[in-house]
Amino acid sequence: MAFRQANWNEPLIFELSGKGKIGQIPPKLTREEESVLQEAMKTFPADMLRGTLSDLPEVSEVEVVRHFTRLSQENYSVDLGTYPLGSCTMKYSPKICEVVSASPKMKNLHPLQHTSLTQGILRMLYELSGFLAEVTGMSKVSLQPSAGAQGELCGALIIRAAHKERNELDKRMEMIVPDSSHGTNPASAAMAGFKVVVVPSDDEGCVNLEALKSVVNDKTAGMMITNPNTLGIFEKRILDIAEIVHDAGGLLYYDGANLNAILGKTRPKEMGFDVAHINIHKTFGTPHGGGGPGAGPVGVTEELGKFLPTPTVEFNGKSYYLDYNRPRSIGKVRSFLGNISILLRAYAYILLLGAEGLEEAAEVSVMNANYLAKKVLATGRYVMPFDPKKVRKHEIVISTEKITAETGIRALDISKRLLDFGVHAPTAYFPLIVNEALMIEPTETESIEDLDRYAQILLKIAEEAYEQPRLLQDAPQNTTVGRIDDVAASHPKTMCLTWKMWKERRTS
Ligand SMILES: *Cc1c(COP(=O)(O)O)cnc(C)c1O
Repeated sequence: MAFRQANWNEPLIFELSGKGKIGQIPPKLTREEESVLQEAMKTFPADMLRGTLSDLPEVSEVEVVRHFTRLSQENYSVDLGTYPLGSCTMKYSPKICEVVSASPKMKNLHPLQHTSLTQGILRMLYELSGFLAEVTGMSKVSLQPSAGAQGELCGALIIRAAHKERNELDKRMEMIVPDSSHGTNPASAAMAGFKVVVVPSDDEGCVNLEALKSVVNDKTAGMMITNPNTLGIFEKRILDIAEIVHDAGGLLYYDGANLNAILGKTRPKEMGFDVAHINIHKTFGTPHGGGGPGAGPVGVTEELGKFLPTPTVEFNGKSYYLDYNRPRSIGKVRSFLGNISILLRAYAYILLLGAEGLEEAAEVSVMNANYLAKKVLATGRYVMPFDPKKVRKHEIVISTEKITAETGIRALDISKRLLDFGVHAPTAYFPLIVNEALMIEPTETESIEDLDRYAQILLKIAEEAYEQPRLLQDAPQNTTVGRIDDVAASHPKTMCLTWKMWKERRTS
């Protein structure tokens, strides 16, 4: 179990810089190219010209390679080991998806190329929309949004547009979210101009139906909900929820960031949803982290199709084309057609697994989560809020509150100590309704050996909390960077994100 992360004490690339060091020598421009460039330069507005590019680091090729290789060794990724970040689905994505999307045939296409020359890629996007429509049961899908949160905003704007068309927008300005919802749900609803109304969970960890009935009325624009919810529990009364929201005149939005548990088992459509987004970068073959890259396609029912972003990719029986003639559309939400390289990975992933493979992925993700729960709860140190006997879906939420009460050691300390064993910590302190929460999503790509090992480490750490609490309070020790001062790291006064900020701070 010995683990020690590399520790290079690596300088910034700006500090490695030396005048005149050159990485690659670009080919010389021909005289003709030179004159084209000069002409083009004249067309740039003067106030947009940057002048000289001072302050760029000057380094040789080998310095660049070593610098970034060293930095990568001080990092952690799903290619190194278990990364069970609940809600984030950090599953291993097959490398073949990378190969497909990195093909020069794909990546050298220009977004403004005429559609007669891009039939291949349009076909893939068209078919991918179809696959995602099949997976969600929605009638029409837009691939434009670049993230889950952007998909949500797009969906919320579609709900807005639908109420506007019925001349009801003035009064329907409330969006309901459960108290277990992902933070992006209330944020997206607010960005779309809605007032956010929170409904509490009941003692089974599901939406409290009585509370829901008491907040829906003729001001309700809709409800955003994820199922299974962030506790990993399937909202089994989802059809009642849909009826309550629909009867009040609202629309139901499915946060499909994590489709893993339901692939091939059920669909948002069957659960009564009108709008759904999907996180490609969680479920469909794209590794993610560090803020991107991602894609958050949005699907809607037949009636709402006209509101989807412009353009949509269409097929007229002979060729694929872009439909800009969409007068009721909410407009564009992103440049061109979306985050194509991510979408191509999803296309490859879905073809690779096929319908049966996707369903099997769902089954294994659920099995892995429940297997891990059983192991982790075995010694009684960790507890699982809401009926622990009830089967969870693709993720589990456990609490360290018993350990915390008896030793003072918190979920944070346990998370940090996990890093010392060369595995990643789960999501901590989310969902907000669970004290000292650890939200674990092992995903279907972890082997039984990896699951056993993760459980064994968690149990060992629980014992350490009683026997050697200092080990946990001082953790991590085996990583490049030790315990981070979270407050300083996120405080505007001390946060330092760029070289420019750093220089300014040093001189001021
Ligand atoms: C990740 C996630 C989101 C947001 O997706 P991003 O791509 O990070 O914007 C929304 N809802 C749930 C439940 C999520 O897990």
